[in-house]
Amino acid sequence: MELRIGLIGCGAIGKEHIKRLQYKLQRCRIVAVSDVLESGAKAAAELAGGVKWYMDVPSIVNDPEVDAVVVCSPGFAHKEAILCAIEAGKPVFTEKPLATTAADCREIVEAEMASGKHLVQVGFMRRYDRGYNQVKQILDSNEFGAPLIVKCTHRNPEVGTNYDTPMAVHDTAIHEIDVLHWLIDDEYVSAQVLMPKTTKYSHPALKDPQIMLLKTKSGAIIDLEVFVNCKFGYDINCEVICEEGVVHMPAPSFPSVRRAGYYATPIEQSWINRFIDSYDVELQNWVDCAKRGAVEGPTAWDGYVAAVTADALVKAQQTGAEEPIVTGVMPAFYRQ
Ligand code: NAP
Repeated sequence: MELRIGLIGCGAIGKEHIKRLQYKLQRCRIVAVSDVLESGAKAAAELAGGVKWYMDVPSIVNDPEVDAVVVCSPGFAHKEAILCAIEAGKPVFTEKPLATTAADCREIVEAEMASGKHLVQVGFMRRYDRGYNQVKQILDSNEFGAPLIVKCTHRNPEVGTNYDTPMAVHDTAIHEIDVLHWLIDDEYVSAQVLMPKTTKYSHPALKDPQIMLLKTKSGAIIDLEVFVNCKFGYDINCEVICEEGVVHMPAPSFPSVRRAGYYATPIEQSWINRFIDSYDVELQNWVDCAKRGAVEGPTAWDGYVAAVTADALVKAQQTGAEEPIVTGVMPAFYRQ
């Protein structure tokens, strides 16, 4: 039996996921879509091959033909859709963030625990990227000893003038925030942000680049450079320095070229292309898990941890001090 999906929010990523779920992935099909904009909902219904469309969350979630829900609305609208799906007892995949405040994330965590069922997965797709998984496999083998330092870069060619200093956390570092504690199997305890000289390509509301430092419970230190006007490409790097060796995440492969006096390898330019494969793996895994009532990917707790960590980093951007990250103990429900 195919998983019958209702997809909420038919904007940029919503349309991508409709195409992916309807025409590319296996064992699932979109049966309904919804958007606050009638024309958006109708166009997405057509894109999905002429499915039902709605303009409100309860109608699509409670449609008896919908087995599971995918949320692609803007972050501020996620909470309503997720809580509605939990109340209906239906699996729900939400694009990141889980919700826009730590308090709202906590409310979702409590609602899911009260339901007694694992229903929520957050769309942190880097956990499905081949490179991160190769690094994790090596770290989990224990052959390199414990991770001591993690050095990462998240560089982007350029951003619009509406992108400001806190967005370096909420829109950019948020992916590292989720993937790195999973990668080294540790918990964050504090955050600090160092502000080097700002590039001439930035503007007064954006400090760029930034160096974000995250300390973990075991004492490891993560050093993440976020540089969103680096000019040369979308450059994601991750190197883990361990007790008995160093593990470097592979870069996406491009042909090397010899031309005009240079021997060169291109650098990816677009974030969409860099992680395009991981969206497919992520959603296929979610479909297969949802069919058997399981959640293997980032949980609501992970979404809550990301929100608390992001808040500490934004505070650290302002204070320059080392700020505590206090999530409390992970409930037993999420350790299963
Ligand atoms: P978008 O293009 O603005 O699309 C959002 C769509 O949802 C719009 O059609 C919007 O309609 C509609 N909408 C607004 N409120 C709604 C509601 N209450 N119920 C149903 N639909 C609603 O945004 P996007 O770029 O696709 O991003 C959507 C989400 O995906 C965000 O949370 C974003 O962070 C996440 N995202 C994740 C990744 C990733 O790498 N994992 C990448 C991109 C985006 P109007 O335009 O009329 O408001």
